[in-house]
Amino acid sequence: MRIHGTAVSRGYAVGKVFVFRPFRAKIAPKYLLSDQVEGALSRFQQALADAEAELDVIVAGVQKTDPDKAAIFDAHRSILKDEELCGEILEKIKEDLLSPEYAVELCFERFIQLLSANESETFRERCADLKDVKSRLQRVYLGIKESNLARLKEPVIIVANDLYPSDTVTMKREMVLGIATEVGGFTSHSAILARSYGIPALCGVSDATEALCDGQTAVLDAEEGILLTQPSGAEVERYRALRSTFLAERKKLDAYKRIRPVTKDGVRVEVSVNIGDPTRTDFMDLELADGIGLFRTEFLYMRGKNPPGEREQEQVYRRVIRAAKGKPVLIRTLDVGGDKKLAGMEEKEPNPFLGLRAVRYCFVHEELFLTQLRALLRAGAEGPVGIMFPMVSSMEELARCKEFVEQAKQQLRAQNVPFDENIRLGVVVEVPALPFIAREVAAQVDFASIGTNDLCQYTLAVDRLNPRVSSYYQSFHPAVLRAVKMTADAFQQAGKPLSVCGEMAGETAGALLLIGLGIRRLSMNAPGMAGVKKLITNVSVTDAQEVARQALGFSSAEQIEAYLQDVMRQL
Ligand code: PEP
Ligand code: MG
Repeated sequence: MRIHGTAVSRGYAVGKVFVFRPFRAKIAPKYLLSDQVEGALSRFQQALADAEAELDVIVAGVQKTDPDKAAIFDAHRSILKDEELCGEILEKIKEDLLSPEYAVELCFERFIQLLSANESETFRERCADLKDVKSRLQRVYLGIKESNLARLKEPVIIVANDLYPSDTVTMKREMVLGIATEVGGFTSHSAILARSYGIPALCGVSDATEALCDGQTAVLDAEEGILLTQPSGAEVERYRALRSTFLAERKKLDAYKRIRPVTKDGVRVEVSVNIGDPTRTDFMDLELADGIGLFRTEFLYMRGKNPPGEREQEQVYRRVIRAAKGKPVLIRTLDVGGDKKLAGMEEKEPNPFLGLRAVRYCFVHEELFLTQLRALLRAGAEGPVGIMFPMVSSMEELARCKEFVEQAKQQLRAQNVPFDENIRLGVVVEVPALPFIAREVAAQVDFASIGTNDLCQYTLAVDRLNPRVSSYYQSFHPAVLRAVKMTADAFQQAGKPLSVCGEMAGETAGALLLIGLGIRRLSMNAPGMAGVKKLITNVSVTDAQEVARQALGFSSAEQIEAYLQDVMRQL
């Protein structure tokens, strides 16, 4: 069978399938008949033992390589043995006739509520551990196997309904041949991560988790956007050959990574990299880039159950800044919400992308925000850093971000901790309100970067994750281009640096258009650098300006895309 999807990270994969079915519990109230109690109690005791056995295996597996992680799972074992908690669960089953999974839900939640109200951060942090153990116990009780991407043992094509960025960032990357998900789109964060890792990926592959099962061989063609569920021997051979050719061509193109990106008429265009997962920063890529144009710090927060502390963040930021060797590093503050959830971020919102996202979330979680800002200010002493605020939509919000920075500075001064007094402050231009007030914004910031992924999503009112509306997500919609132009003009007049860090910057046609619109700083996933540098050396700014002028004259994305395709063919 051939299932169609949208190719979001190029390439081919041939191999065994792993269907990822994470346990995302929805436990409804359920009661037992009195003659069911005994059986339920013994099954619950068995579940306790089985959950403990799972944890034994995990602890033994990471003890040597990652003692910190081992300590976390060891603490989970202790929670399972907690007499007060277990006693309460048993009582609820025996006395109130609650089903074990529901009793676990109520008792764990009571403890979680108690801890989350505690003054001490350490106690509050234990909530995430309790939630983890609760869900393990319920899953084991319900007889569902653990599905975990961090412990893949052989190379596989992952098939899933959806991958949260936290799944993608913690997966064992070297074991992943390809990814096919039922939902998501080109700019969903799991797709962005897949591209940055160079893993071929498809989104919007309807019913993939139904059509495939663990262990069967499949072919993923992320050039044509096809998943072959039962490839013949000949097809497997053909795709293996296509994969080798693709990899060889990518290697050839990689040679362009090394060149200095100057246009034919001698204009230097900066090409920087976007990073998300600082533990996997390829320092070679950094060497060949003009800096880091976007560090998506939220992925730091998704690696563990608890948010990283001030010192831990400072160390990560310092390491990244040192690796950039004096080149500028733009670090974006925590951008959660939308498709990026943190452990313990339970509040369900009807419209998460329009909800408490990014700085809005940080304004409510003041200590979380201040901790990050202090860490950034401290690390700023290491090299040229700019702090960038996501999702700002008004001058008041910008002012509020700056007040938080002032407060963080005061706190550091009070502790006599050295930090970068003159750290540069900027915004991500991604809410369509900003291009309209770009002149005022430019006057109040040191720099800005256009996030075309969200700018497109919000300008066109189309969910960037939803495959049902993906045809409405048109990066080359004239409104998006005009918003970029308005911003570029305002920043040029103000004499303030402006870059683009959305996916458009890493696509050759997008980069050409952006240069024509006046952008001289592009930031992208490392694998995009080679193609964009090659493009830059093959065009002149005058050509690019003419392309942009023509494109701005069209009234629909369709016309612009057709025109760009034509231009790119002739290059
Ligand atoms: C953007 O919106 O273009 C951007 C760079 O940020 P993200 O993709 O992380 O939302
Ligand atoms: Mg964004």
